[in-house]
Amino acid sequence: MQKRLEKAADLVQLDAGVYRILATPYQELTVSVPVKMDDGSLRVFTGYRVQHSIARGPAKGGIRYSPEVNLDEVRALSAWMTWKCAVVNVPFGGGKGGIICDPRRMSAGELERLTRRYTANLMDIIGPERDVPAPDMNTGEQTMAWLMDTYSTHTRSTTPAIVTGKPVGLGGSKGRREATGLGVAFTVRESLKHLGLPDKGCRVVVQGAGNVGGLGALFLHEMGHKIVGISDMYGAIHNDNGLDMPAVLDWLKDKGSLEGFPNADYIDNSQLLTLDCEVLIPAATENQITSANAADIKAKVIVEGANGPTSAEADAILEKRGVFVAPDILANAGGVTVSYFEWVQNRMGYFWEEQIVFDRMERIMVDSFNDVVASAKKYDTSPRIGAYCKAIDRVAYCLDLRGIYA
Ligand code: GLU
Repeated sequence: MQKRLEKAADLVQLDAGVYRILATPYQELTVSVPVKMDDGSLRVFTGYRVQHSIARGPAKGGIRYSPEVNLDEVRALSAWMTWKCAVVNVPFGGGKGGIICDPRRMSAGELERLTRRYTANLMDIIGPERDVPAPDMNTGEQTMAWLMDTYSTHTRSTTPAIVTGKPVGLGGSKGRREATGLGVAFTVRESLKHLGLPDKGCRVVVQGAGNVGGLGALFLHEMGHKIVGISDMYGAIHNDNGLDMPAVLDWLKDKGSLEGFPNADYIDNSQLLTLDCEVLIPAATENQITSANAADIKAKVIVEGANGPTSAEADAILEKRGVFVAPDILANAGGVTVSYFEWVQNRMGYFWEEQIVFDRMERIMVDSFNDVVASAKKYDTSPRIGAYCKAIDRVAYCLDLRGIYA
């Protein structure tokens, strides 16, 4: 993140003082979260919330539950949220949270107690006008419902706008669940159009079969492309003639793993990333495309569904090879865009039809794609650095107008 920020800051000739502000998080909180486990024992988990910037509005970003969570990762992810919100021009800053835990080894009751106590520990820094969490890796609608209830209980007022990605019946937005995957599919469509590639029949490989990868693959399948490979956290399936995506997702839901899916080879993750295809969508986790495999990637287009799936070293290799990379802060911004719609609907107390949500999101994604391509052209750089330039411009503009309180 820092490397890209540095490069873009140079190109836009960012003031050195403003750079120092943007290179440091605004606020960080580390909390110990004691939880009574089902077996009667007591465990203390470590949780974080980092607010990278509040220059453009309340901090915004997900909360992830994973054994790999660490403060540096949360810091980088919170900065990515600042740039992402600025790229799609929604009035939020950037934040991220995480708890070091293994949610697959915890019961629903343990996860509920973990979420509630973490929320209680964060009460002083979150709020609809301060910092609005959302789902991320291994958290979802139920997690957000517990968070909303805990916050509302403390404030003695029902406060749906404290969090986005809630269940629809509790003030969530229609279309939020599909938003990130659909936004990824729109970005694939715009990238293909930009490069003059066909709008149907492209071979697509997707790493990850969750909310982003799985639904993204489903939308691209519906748009007439061929999903030739897709993975979950254990392994991947491959069929050059294209996989029947609705059947793949049903299988995964049923069996909990892609292994054994009929008429497909079972391959590993590294084989998946280097399959023959036109479009590669890394939609799992960070640092998947690195200097170790970037030279072997066959795709012409990479659309980053995950946050930070490509290392800065891999960027240089892909750029030299002419691979078009639609960067994370653009490609997966459909999620936070609909989070913004959810927050707006909560504050209005008036809810929109699903098609209105999708139409407004599509428009923002297409406009942002064009903004990023124009910015890359203006600064004679990659779409990634072009996106950073655009985002930095917007954040720096607000910082400048607000000035430094002293
Ligand atoms: N966790 C998602 C992301 O990384 C969504 C954040 C949000 O909606 O606030 O973009």
